Amino acid sequence: MRRGMVLGMLLAVGALAAVKAQAPPSDVKRVIEVEKVKDNLWVLRGKDSAGVDGGGNTAVFATADGVTVVDAKNPGWGKPILDKIKELTPKPVTMLINTHTHGDHVSGNVDFPATVDIVVQENTKTNMEKMPIFKEHNGAGMAKRTFKDKMTIGKGADQIDLYYFGPGHTNGDAWVVFPAHRIVHSGDIFARKGVPLIDEANGGSMLHMSETLMKAHDGIKNVDAIINGHTPAQTTWADLKEFADFNRDLVTWMQAELKAGKTPEQAAAEWKLPAKYKDYSSTVSTMFGGFAGRVQTLQNEMKK
Ligand SMILES: [Zn+2]
Repeated sequence: MRRGMVLGMLLAVGALAAVKAQAPPSDVKRVIEVEKVKDNLWVLRGKDSAGVDGGGNTAVFATADGVTVVDAKNPGWGKPILDKIKELTPKPVTMLINTHTHGDHVSGNVDFPATVDIVVQENTKTNMEKMPIFKEHNGAGMAKRTFKDKMTIGKGADQIDLYYFGPGHTNGDAWVVFPAHRIVHSGDIFARKGVPLIDEANGGSMLHMSETLMKAHDGIKNVDAIINGHTPAQTTWADLKEFADFNRDLVTWMQAELKAGKTPEQAAAEWKLPAKYKDYSSTVSTMFGGFAGRVQTLQNEMKK
């Protein structure tokens, strides 16, 4: 018994050493790829030299007074983002907006200068306060300003509208609208075409996902394109309607499974991508418990 414990500890130490040896942070080269969307609006995507994705899509919006950044990717990506912005515009970064609390969207915050205003939905600030990374950096990168349902920043060509329509991916998903360009950054409430990620611990809702998406679809006017949380290209406003339908159909199917007495695991084993959503991904991320986790979240919500 004792020997087993010691061996286990040795193995754990060995595994840790292997992880460290594999990817020392200083040796990883982080490369930002730029997509120019408009003359003063870009999307930054990243991949490091080990092939690891940098995190959520970052938008960069250059206004008359300065640059607004939306989302700052995984740990270590703040500096590469700031360096790349210097190549795009001589204007200083003055504002950072985070679409929600996840580490692949907010961790790069800690590298931004202390003068930068950081704006999030109010529930996202509460969620961010629970994250170790901001404590480890003495509060650097923490949200400074919040909104509840709607906030407008700037005007004319520089205007940004922030909206919150209810729980979905988390309980603080901000929709960031650039009205002059008829473009919105949706963050991960519409990350990609596929089964959504629902973070129950941060207030996400499978039950209300479709309704929240439809509120955004109907509530935000004059938008043509969406910068999604994680896609390699923009989607359209019609795609958002389809994604809301997909989520409604998904919940209807899950509810029928639960009513038939299936467990979340049984439902997960039976689920097939409906034929009408032909360009949707049929693979489901294992995060937040995979497909069974989404069904479990729904079941928990229905009991409330
Ligand atoms: Zn997320």
